Amino acid sequence: MPRPISLTIDSAAMTHNLGVVRQRLEQAAHALQRPAPYIWAVIKANAYGHGVQPAVQAFAQADGLAMLDFNEAIQCRELGWQKPILLLEGFFAADDLAAVQTHQLSVVLHHDEQLRQLAHCRPQQPIAAYLKINTGMNRLGFAGPDVAQAWARIQALQAQGVVRFLGAMTHFALADESRPVTLQQINAFNQLNPAPEAAFSVCNSAATLQTDLQAFLSANEQWVRPGICLYGASPFAEQSAASFDLRPAQTLEAEIISVQQVQAGQGVGYGHTFEATEALRIGVVACGYADGYPRHAPTGTPVVVAGQRSRLVGRISMDMLTIDLSGINQAGVGSKVVLWGRQGPSVDEVAQAAGTIGYELVTAVTPRVPRLLK
Ligand SMILES: *Cc1c(COP(=O)(O)O)cnc(C)c1O
Repeated sequence: MPRPISLTIDSAAMTHNLGVVRQRLEQAAHALQRPAPYIWAVIKANAYGHGVQPAVQAFAQADGLAMLDFNEAIQCRELGWQKPILLLEGFFAADDLAAVQTHQLSVVLHHDEQLRQLAHCRPQQPIAAYLKINTGMNRLGFAGPDVAQAWARIQALQAQGVVRFLGAMTHFALADESRPVTLQQINAFNQLNPAPEAAFSVCNSAATLQTDLQAFLSANEQWVRPGICLYGASPFAEQSAASFDLRPAQTLEAEIISVQQVQAGQGVGYGHTFEATEALRIGVVACGYADGYPRHAPTGTPVVVAGQRSRLVGRISMDMLTIDLSGINQAGVGSKVVLWGRQGPSVDEVAQAAGTIGYELVTAVTPRVPRLLK
C-alpha cells in the first residue's frame, strides 16, 4: 500500500484559468479598440509544480509557452508543442545555442556575455530573440545607457543573420503592491525601448489581473506572461484567486493514519510547541515537510478534514503533521484531509499562515508524493 497522500493536478482548472486571463485581456483590449495581447503561459519550474505534460495539454490555446529550463523546453517540443517557446533567461552558455536552433526556441537577451557568444554563432536560421530591459527590478536586463549599446550589437547581429529581433521585455518588481512604482517602470520602459514599433512584453499575473489593465495595453503587438494565476493561486496578498474566478489546479490531500486523545496540559509533537488547554482529539496526518508541506506552518494553519475546516496543531514532522479534531467526531483513521486545493483551504491561505507565498508551496511538493491527473 502506498502512503495515503496524493497531489491531484486538475488540467481542466488550468484551461479554465487560461480562459479567465484571455477574457480579461479581450475585454480590456476591446474597450480600447485594440487587438488583445498574445499570451505566453509561463510553465517554468515544472509548470509551477504541476508537470510539463499536463501544462502543455491544458494550455493548448496559449500563444506560446515561457520557461527557463532547456530540458523543459525540449520536453514541450517532444510533446508536440509547435507554437513559440520563450526561454526567459535566454541561454546560459555558447553550447546551448545548438539546442536553441534545433528546437526553435526564442531567447531573452539580458547580458553582454550572451551577445558575445552570439557573435561567434553561425546559425542556419536566425535565432528569435527579445531584448530584456531592466527598469527597476534589478535582476535581469540591460539598464540605462547599456540598452542603446546592446541594441546596436543586436542590430549588427540581425544584419549578419544571427538574430531575428522580436521585441523588448521588462519585468515588474511591485505589480502586486504598488501602482506608482509599476507606472514608473512602464515609463522607464517606454523611454528606454529602442524599438517601440516592435512587439513588447511586460505583464506578469499581477499586472494582467489589475482592474485597470488598460493602462498596460498598447496598440503594438503585445505578449503577456501570466504564471501563478494559471494555476489558480493569487499573486496578491489581499485578493483571493477565487475572487478572480480562478480555480485551484493543485490539491494536496492525505489521510489520518492515527488518532490520539490528549489531556489538558499535554504537549503535542516535537518541542511541545502546542500544549492542549483542554481534552482534545488529535489526528495524525500522512504528510510532512519531506512531502513539501512547509515546516514553518504554525498552529492554527487551516486544513479541511472530513469536509470540515480545522487547524494544524504543533510542529510539522518530516512525514506527519497533527491536526485538531475537536468537534469533528466523524473524523478518524482513514479520513481525508485536504492540505490545500479543491475543497480545502487555498494554497494562498496556507502560504500566508506559514509566512510564504503560494508560489513556493505549489513548486515544493516533493517527488515522493504520487501525482494523480484529473
Ligand atoms: C515567473 C515569471 C513570470 C510569471 O510571473 P507570475 O507572477 O507567476 O505571473 C513572468 N515573467 C517572468 C520574466 C518571470 O520570470
